[in-house]
Amino acid sequence: MKQLEYLKLLNLLKRTLDEYLNWGETEIVKKSIDNIILTEGSVKAFFQKKQSKSILNPKEKIGVLKREIDFCKKCSLGNNRLNTVIDTGFLTTGLMFVGEYPDFDKNHKDESFVDKTEQAEQLLTKIIEAMGYTRKNVYITNIIKCRTMIDPVNTKRKPNYKPSTSFEIGTCKYYLDKQIEIIKPKIIILLGEVVFSDFLYNEESIGKVRGVVKEYKGIKLMPTYHPVVLLKNSRLKKIVWDDMKRVMHYLNTGKI
Ligand code: SF4
Repeated sequence: MKQLEYLKLLNLLKRTLDEYLNWGETEIVKKSIDNIILTEGSVKAFFQKKQSKSILNPKEKIGVLKREIDFCKKCSLGNNRLNTVIDTGFLTTGLMFVGEYPDFDKNHKDESFVDKTEQAEQLLTKIIEAMGYTRKNVYITNIIKCRTMIDPVNTKRKPNYKPSTSFEIGTCKYYLDKQIEIIKPKIIILLGEVVFSDFLYNEESIGKVRGVVKEYKGIKLMPTYHPVVLLKNSRLKKIVWDDMKRVMHYLNTGKI
């Protein structure tokens, strides 16, 4: 029901009770009128709050989400992190990349992506540029927002590269869902087998599912090889490029 309809209904009730009052009705009628006036105030406050929430733009909504993540301790990774690492890039490009978790170095710099080697990150940058974008105008994020450190107090110590547990993934994916909800990308590129299986809770190998377009909440998903795999097997680069060409075609034409 809309605000106006609520207020009209309350007004009608108030007028009816006013009439009872004119006929000499008692205290209970007066009390009911007071309650209606209070309810009117609450209805107005409720709709004002709702309106102020809905007028936040995506950047502001992501800002609110980031503050929430910064305080998150929903899983044990929150106790051992240096920083939360949430995203990098532009919010309204339509193109989103999802990796698994923040890299150690990036954890220090508070930027997103997701790999153990600088080369893998450079390769991802090259792929993005070959698609006609830059790292700044696509949106890059991870499923996990905190990186486990062996000793978070000593920043020179190495991160703990233990695989993420299903509890950590399931818990942190709540934030990824929120990001997707706010940004509304046209297509999401899932980088690697771990991300594919974390994302869709599907254990199929990336060799089998790459290039097979899936859907998640009405958004297209393109699973493909992780850049670190391409460093080990350069023959896969062409396959990834074929996947990216389909993504570009989809962004340009809406067809895949
Ligand atoms: S990894 Fe995610 S769920 Fe766990 S503490 Fe960090 S932000 Fe929270």
